[in-house]
Amino acid sequence: MTPILQTDTGPLLHKAVEEAARLLKAGEVVALPTETVYGLAADALNPAAVAKIFEAKERPSFDPLIVHLPNKKMLDEVAEVPEDIRAIVQKITEKMWPGPLTLVLPKKACVPDIVTAGLPTVAVRMSKNAVFRRVADALGKPIAAPSANRFGSISPTSANAVVDELDGRIPLIIDGGACLCGIESTIIKVEAGSPKPIITILRPGPITPDDLKAFGKVKHLVRSVIDEATDAPGQLASHYAPRTPLRLLSKPEDFTPEPGKRYALMSYRGDASDGYTGLTEWVHVQILSPGKGKLPEAAVRFFYVLRELDGLGVDEIIAEPMFEHGMGIAMMDKLRRAAVKH
Ligand code: AMP
Ligand code: MG
Repeated sequence: MTPILQTDTGPLLHKAVEEAARLLKAGEVVALPTETVYGLAADALNPAAVAKIFEAKERPSFDPLIVHLPNKKMLDEVAEVPEDIRAIVQKITEKMWPGPLTLVLPKKACVPDIVTAGLPTVAVRMSKNAVFRRVADALGKPIAAPSANRFGSISPTSANAVVDELDGRIPLIIDGGACLCGIESTIIKVEAGSPKPIITILRPGPITPDDLKAFGKVKHLVRSVIDEATDAPGQLASHYAPRTPLRLLSKPEDFTPEPGKRYALMSYRGDASDGYTGLTEWVHVQILSPGKGKLPEAAVRFFYVLRELDGLGVDEIIAEPMFEHGMGIAMMDKLRRAAVKH
């Protein structure tokens, strides 16, 4: 069983940070909280340590990792920021870091190929989670940290969920409570453009197109779920998948329950007038944001609810669609990927 260290009081936090940093320095992996989801961390500049992330997650080597920096100054140590976007990158990191925004930039030679899956670019961010930042400061080096789940499975937003995914496979889990955003960071690519720089969203997330439009012309990398990713490798069609089959039901009229089958509902706001809650005798209904429905609240609960519904042993999970703007873009993208048969 993997030990879990708590962080609720000063002395507990101190001990947890010390132990996490000690293991990371020794080339081990540790599960850490971030503001997005829990990450499985290793020293990004130590290829043998990074290999342990791939092993624990059973992650294929073609899927690159995100590198988390302890401070903004360190960006130039891992990335070669092109001259023509230096000013805009500076502006973006100034405003958005620490926070759930990842930038893809040309990499420096010190970043091992295993981290970037052999790509000439590296994905970088700086977490604002206080526990994560303490550990990053104590290590004083960039940290590679993908989500702390088995490859393709539901991302963990609590220490308990990390236990479900990786218990016995890693030496330590730091419990920092629930994740404040609940969904993975927004990933962007920045290019020079006239009159404005061009910002392409490679993966939608908590930082929305609206949040980014102050920095340039925002483009979405629109790709159907059956497309294999080119720009954001690892953005695989089938992903974030519960073990239970999941169907994104665009219209309630499209549902005909099959006799003998057991269904659970992932409802956006649980309102009968939306036409979903009364469709059948649900084994269970989980509501993402009861009342009027708030997308950021739904995001916080999204992976938790999916994990709960997956644990019921029903035949199918039916998901209601959400508004496809703001954080709803990321959740709808994840629901589509979760619904792809694999
Ligand atoms: P996560 O598992 O949440 O840490 O996400 C890692 C994801 O970031 C990968 O699956 C890719 O989609 C994306 N990513 C990482 N590095 C790069 C890169 N160099 N270029 C484009 N996307 C990247
Ligand atoms: Mg992941």
